[in-house]
Amino acid sequence: MSKKTIFIWYRNDLRLHDHEPLYQALQAKASVIPLYCFDERQFGTTSFGFPKTGAFRTQFILESVADLRNSLRSQGSDLVVCRGLPEKIIPLLAKSLNIWALYYHREVTSEELAVESALKKALSQIGVKVQSFWGTTLFHINDLPFSIPQIPEIFTQFRKRVEKSSTVAPTFPTPESLPPLPEIEVGKIPKLADFGLEPPSFDQRAVLNFKGGETAALARLEHYFWKQDYLKAYKQTRNGMLGADYSSKFSPWLALGCLSPRHIYEQVKEYEMQRFKNDSTYWLVFELLWRDYFRFICAKHGNHLFRQSGLQGVKIPWQEDWERFELWRQGMTGFPLIDANMRELAATGFMSNRGRQNVASFLTKNLGINWQMGAEWFESLLIDYDVCSNWGNWNYTAGVGNDARGFRYFNIQKQSKDYDPQGKYVKHWLPEIASLPASKVHEPWKLQPLEQKLYEVRIGVNYPQPVVDLIKSVKANETIYNAALSQK
Ligand SMILES: Cc1cc2nc3c(=O)[nH]c(=O)nc-3n(C[C@H](O)[C@H](O)[C@H](O)COP(=O)(O)OP(=O)(O)OC[C@H]3O[C@@H](n4cnc5c(N)ncnc54)[C@H](O)[C@@H]3O)c2cc1C
Repeated sequence: MSKKTIFIWYRNDLRLHDHEPLYQALQAKASVIPLYCFDERQFGTTSFGFPKTGAFRTQFILESVADLRNSLRSQGSDLVVCRGLPEKIIPLLAKSLNIWALYYHREVTSEELAVESALKKALSQIGVKVQSFWGTTLFHINDLPFSIPQIPEIFTQFRKRVEKSSTVAPTFPTPESLPPLPEIEVGKIPKLADFGLEPPSFDQRAVLNFKGGETAALARLEHYFWKQDYLKAYKQTRNGMLGADYSSKFSPWLALGCLSPRHIYEQVKEYEMQRFKNDSTYWLVFELLWRDYFRFICAKHGNHLFRQSGLQGVKIPWQEDWERFELWRQGMTGFPLIDANMRELAATGFMSNRGRQNVASFLTKNLGINWQMGAEWFESLLIDYDVCSNWGNWNYTAGVGNDARGFRYFNIQKQSKDYDPQGKYVKHWLPEIASLPASKVHEPWKLQPLEQKLYEVRIGVNYPQPVVDLIKSVKANETIYNAALSQK
């Protein structure tokens, strides 16, 4: 009898290490055909008209797929690459190759689940078995101390119970060699132009020249933990905005699954044994728990995450003021911290966590603009876009998330002074105000005419007037928010 053949359907799990579907297929002594399908729908437009997967992330995905193919080839296998609708193409391939089963990592959000369910249906009609695995989070879904419907709504409660009662499962071993593919056409990896996108140029000011793929992900971990020892001070540096190493920068690789959170965890434990165990080593794992939390919350609440009233169902009359939204998007609000961060995002596809919190707060709590527009802009641009982390964090910052703590906002001026006291970050991204001394750089609108002349910063000419009054706008939006909350 000939060997059974299993398709490994790669999605947001582009790695060989800690990959349960691959491991289980090999345990079953099956022939294995790894497969990646570029789903055309992911390259369309969002509801507000932005490219759903912009050039930065598309490039990162292409690099990650190419790296996966190289790794598979070096182990004697290969990656079949196709483009179209997975639920149409995969069954056709499965039939022609006499596939026995399809193994894959399951997702939790609606677009991904719709593909899974259509694919399952089509495969069952031709007698192909389907087996899904859970593999995106640090804690396995089966190891949680509660069922999905019982997941605590508040992060701290979730974290405390998980920390107390659950353990992180060990990683699955990386295979040492793989069975060769049968004689089949493996397909070419598309180019950016195939998606109608221009290659993004690399901006020298970027925090890092991110390269997609497991190889680069593992090299980044090696650099951050072992070569440079940055992990030991992570808690103190993680709120930075400038430079490659204030935080781990693991997020793009985590989002595409080039890096497994359990592998990071094992490396943290190893680091604690070999070097230091301190609040920083704990804190990196703590941050990974935020990532888990948003994914499990998505599994619990489904599409509520995406609706305007958010997980909480609070109907705030958000504005869709495109003129102001454009100022935010282009980094032209007149508030240096906001503008610098938004320009960094547009130029590189990345922004620090501190930046994201501030720009999201500003859009929703100062401008009163529909948070979904911001979430979609992030979805389009971010190389680390992760559906659960992005929409979950936007829910949270907009005040429509499940962790209801009233109207909370970021005081942009205080944040600027606390996190960029010398103005180095804003000067890095806003050359037009780089001549200003630190004491004036966060409040350029206060410059006297003589100072404007002296520093060659002309407010309203080469740097914009502030689009709102920070205090008045927050008060106005707080009133709107509280009125909406009382109607709930
Ligand atoms: C409005 C908004 C949108 C965001 N969108 C995304 C997104 O699409 N994808 C994404 O990965 N993160 C998102 N984040 C979370 C966070 O900003 C990034 O994970 C972080 O900046 C990535 O940098 P890092 O890898 O150096 O993080 P580190 O500080 O080194 O943290 C390590 C890892 O922990 C996880 N993590 C840290 N903070 C968070 C958080 N608040 N929520 C979820 N996971 C977290 C990430 O996987 C990160 O890589 C968003 C935050 C906000 C406020």
